[in-house]
Amino acid sequence: MRRKLAAGNWKMNGTSASLPELQSLATSYPSASVDVLICPPATLLHRAADVAKDTAITVGGQDCHAAESGAHTGDISAQMLLDAGATAVILGHSERREDHGEQNEDVRAKARVAMDAGLKAIICVGESLEQREAANTLDIIGGQMSGSIPDQSTGENLIVAYEPIWAIGTGKVPTLDEIGEVHDFIRARLERRFGEGVGRSVRLLYGGSVKPSNAGDIFAVSNVDGALVGGASLKSQDFSGVIDALQKS
Ligand code: PEP
Repeated sequence: MRRKLAAGNWKMNGTSASLPELQSLATSYPSASVDVLICPPATLLHRAADVAKDTAITVGGQDCHAAESGAHTGDISAQMLLDAGATAVILGHSERREDHGEQNEDVRAKARVAMDAGLKAIICVGESLEQREAANTLDIIGGQMSGSIPDQSTGENLIVAYEPIWAIGTGKVPTLDEIGEVHDFIRARLERRFGEGVGRSVRLLYGGSVKPSNAGDIFAVSNVDGALVGGASLKSQDFSGVIDALQKS
């Protein structure tokens, strides 16, 4: 049985003034029947971990460097995230791939170091609108999976997030059939590469304009084990709607 996961990505949003939103979420979910993860900016991670302590909420990073430590000004290592209280890290988000030119092999190297440190790696894959319109979605996702997911992956340390780039922050969402097709494809690829045991235990998240009003329908799709949520994770009331839909699914 895969435990469901609602993960929130605050991106480059949030200062100490945002911590009451997390506090309110933490107060609402002293416990939950699903996992709940908030990935705030790195500057807030330590304080967010303190706020979430002894509740259903855990915190994660939004990126880490592929090296364990060293002369990499401005970067953050997996060990630093762990030390600040993180349990997981988002890797290969399309915004990192686009803004920082991250390639699949970069994501794979980061995932290795994150897993070695004991973090769960949430590896993001997803097609652009042009790629979908050219009917290349599954080829793109397959290539990103082969290139980005390390061999040491297990159901414990790997989570895959399917995030169609054109659905992120746009209010556009693929049809439920389209979401199901990609999630079934990802599951089959994981089973083929890692065997049925591991392949079936990895959690698959959908991400792209998830909000309380569409979450229930999305969570009913086969092989959707939760969501990676951007905009709707910034306000505790919105994110609670997503968590509640996941708990009911
Ligand atoms: C994201 O960036 O991971 C995301 C899914 O954003 P949004 O929910 O705002 O579309």
